[in-house]
Amino acid sequence: MSEPNKLLEVKNLRTSFFTSENEVKAVNDVSYYINEGEIVAVVGESGCGKSVTQMSVMQLVQTPPGKILGGEVLFEGKNLLDYKSKSKEMQAIRGAKIAMIFQEPMTSLNPVYTVGSQITEVIRRHKKCTKKEAWEIGVRALGDVGIPDPEARMKNYPFEMSGGMRQRALIAIAVACNSRLIIADEPTTALDVTTQAQVMELLLHIVDTMNTSLLIVTHNLGLVSRYAQRIYVMYAGRIVESGTTEDLLTRPAHPYTMGLLKSVPKLEERQGEKLIPIEGAPPNLAKLPEYCSFYPRCPYATEECKAKPAPELRSVDGKLHFKACHLETIPEEGR
Ligand code: SF4
Repeated sequence: MSEPNKLLEVKNLRTSFFTSENEVKAVNDVSYYINEGEIVAVVGESGCGKSVTQMSVMQLVQTPPGKILGGEVLFEGKNLLDYKSKSKEMQAIRGAKIAMIFQEPMTSLNPVYTVGSQITEVIRRHKKCTKKEAWEIGVRALGDVGIPDPEARMKNYPFEMSGGMRQRALIAIAVACNSRLIIADEPTTALDVTTQAQVMELLLHIVDTMNTSLLIVTHNLGLVSRYAQRIYVMYAGRIVESGTTEDLLTRPAHPYTMGLLKSVPKLEERQGEKLIPIEGAPPNLAKLPEYCSFYPRCPYATEECKAKPAPELRSVDGKLHFKACHLETIPEEGR
C-alpha cells in the first residue's frame, strides 16, 4: 500500500509571548502532521497551547506580544512561515485553502456586513468570478450545509442567525472555496448538544464528500474519540502523547492522557460511574521547569522524573504511538 500524502506538516514549531519580565512559552517545539482526507484531533486543557499552535500555522498570532520563534509549517510543499502574515500568498491560503472555524463564529464573521457579502467576498478573493456568480456559489454552499432558504439567509447579518447557523455559514465558506483543510477550534463548545452533533456530522460529511482534511482542536477527548483517526495530546505547550485513536483510548501511555480519559464520560459508561478530574492546575508557561512539566500533578512521578530533563517524545510500539514520559511502563495499580 502506498504511503498517504501529508497535507500539512508542522515541524518543531515554537511560539512565545513576551511581557516586560517574562517569556511565555505557549508552543514549545511542537511537531505534527495531517494526511489528505484524514481527521486528526489536538486535545488538551485550556491554556495548553493548542489554539496558539493553530493560530501560528495560520500566522494569526498578534505580534507583539506574540512571536513565532522557529520551526516549519509545510503545506503543499511550501513553508508557510517563509511568507509574511499579510502577504498575498498567506491571504490566498487563509480562509480558502485552509479554513478556520472557531468556537465563537463571531470571531470570523464581521457583525456589520451581511453573511452573503462576506461569503461572496471570500469566494471572489479565491476564485475568478463575477459578483453574481460568487453570490450563486454562496447560495448553493449555504444550501449544501443545510441552511434553509439560503437566498434569504445570505441577506442576514450574523446576529440574525443562531450560533449553530453561524457555524454552518463558516463551514459554507470552506465548501464554496473547496478548502483542502479545515481547522475547527472548539467548533461545538458554545452549542447545545443536538446542534453540536449536527455540526460534527456536517463536518464529517464534508470530509467524506470533498476529500477535505479536518483538524479538530478541543479539550473534549470524549467528543473526538468518536470522530478522529489519530490524536495528539498537548500539555504545557508540548505534545506529550500521540497515536491512533484506538492506541490512546485503549492503551494510553502517558499519565496525563490517562488522567484525561478518567475525567470524561465514556460512551459505554454505566450510570453512576465516577469521573475523576486531574488534580492541580497546569503550570505557568512563563516558569516552566527543566524537568517534566506534568511532575507536580503526576500520580506516577518518581525522583528520577525531577532529576532528568523534560522527556522527549519516543515511540511506544515502533509505529505511530509516541509518548513523552521517562517511565517505561506505568504501574498497573491506579491506572
Ligand atoms: Fe509522570 Fe515522570 Fe512521566 Fe512526567 S516523566 S509524566 S512526572 S512519570
